[in-house]
Amino acid sequence: MVFTFSIALGSGLGYMEFVAGRLNRPSLRLRVTAAAENRVRGGHPWVFAQSVREQNRAGKTGELAILFDRKDRFLAAGLYDAQSPIRVRVLHAGKARALDTAWWRQRAEEALARREGMFDGTTTGYRCINGESDGWPGLALDRYGGTLVLKLYTAAWLPRLEDIAALLGTRERLVLRLSRNIQEAAAEGFGIKDGQVLRGEPCAGPAVFLENGLRFEADVERGQKTGFFLDQRENRREAAALAAGRSVLNLFSYTGGFSVYAAGGGAESVWSLDISEHAIAAARRNFALNGDRPAIANCRHETIQANAFDWLRETRYNRFDLIVLDPPSLARREADRAEAVGAYGRLLDGALALLRGNGILIAASCSAHVTAAEFFGLAREAARRTGRPFEEMKTTRHAADHPASFPEADYLKCVYLHLLR
Ligand code: SAH
Repeated sequence: MVFTFSIALGSGLGYMEFVAGRLNRPSLRLRVTAAAENRVRGGHPWVFAQSVREQNRAGKTGELAILFDRKDRFLAAGLYDAQSPIRVRVLHAGKARALDTAWWRQRAEEALARREGMFDGTTTGYRCINGESDGWPGLALDRYGGTLVLKLYTAAWLPRLEDIAALLGTRERLVLRLSRNIQEAAAEGFGIKDGQVLRGEPCAGPAVFLENGLRFEADVERGQKTGFFLDQRENRREAAALAAGRSVLNLFSYTGGFSVYAAGGGAESVWSLDISEHAIAAARRNFALNGDRPAIANCRHETIQANAFDWLRETRYNRFDLIVLDPPSLARREADRAEAVGAYGRLLDGALALLRGNGILIAASCSAHVTAAEFFGLAREAARRTGRPFEEMKTTRHAADHPASFPEADYLKCVYLHLLR
């Protein structure tokens, strides 16, 4: 079993012999810079390629790397990724110990236990494992009703797929999703592809699940992320609570999550705008899935397929009472930051200009390279530029099933602005 990494300690003073599972060559040992050492000791799960000072041999993606500190003592063990700038993703730091089957099982159980009692039967779509923050670097596991979706962000997990499936233990359908940058390695090295069903019956269309009693479909095989933006659940609930009698605009609506909630909360009308035809079609289907609710059946739902930036510049309709602004990440790299700040400014100005008196803007950012403080600052500046009195109702962060244990994981932030006149 590949999960069994026994770390055998040698008897000599300061000397440790690490035996990495069934690898029959010397274990991969890395010495890292002092700065990286400090970061790892502080709990950060990433060691970048440029932080590796030396290693005993070339490493293979997916094997266990043992990190040593300046005094040649055990620092951490993690997954080696020869292709990624994140060269090692830490699995365990601190005292040397065996990462054996029991250790892995405990990791999985801990993540699942963290969600226990979080959701009742009215929510069957949620995140079960949130990557590094749950001790599973570069791996996410989401549930959509009876379908589990495993998303990998590093090729280091590819050789361990069978073990992960075994560890999850259930017989439920398990769908594999791969981030774009590892799809080629997966196809060439392992003959597996994005959207592949690893276990259970093939998908007969999208998975249908419940969120706060509302029905949604998730295209688990092809949709963005794992098929749905589960991380916005709490903000969607807030949107519903603010929507009664209001005319609502949902910008970057994707499959209409915020739109359906707003309709369910009694919105008079909802406009869903997205650039993707597929997303718009799914938003319509999600309304239809909830057609047995009078509030949703009675709500006028308009869909607009457009580029939000262009549409905001050109529209003359400015009579919305509630606007949701949830664009995709505008800064995927640090180098995109300045441009993203400008783009947020244009979106915020454009959205605020369409609000009637007493209107509310719910603005979210999922760009990890723009901090919460910066984003909230941008939103406040835009509100000031309107020249209208406003109050900041509140700000929100990650939902509880999406814990964030280090800065790069802490991407989602949302601010609620109320224009008073
Ligand atoms: N708010 C959604 C998630 C938004 S994801 C939810 O809660 O489910 C971002 C969406 O923005 C995607 O659906 C993508 O198609 C859309 N998008 C990306 N660029 C766009 C643009 N310039 N104009 C309009 N939509 C865009």
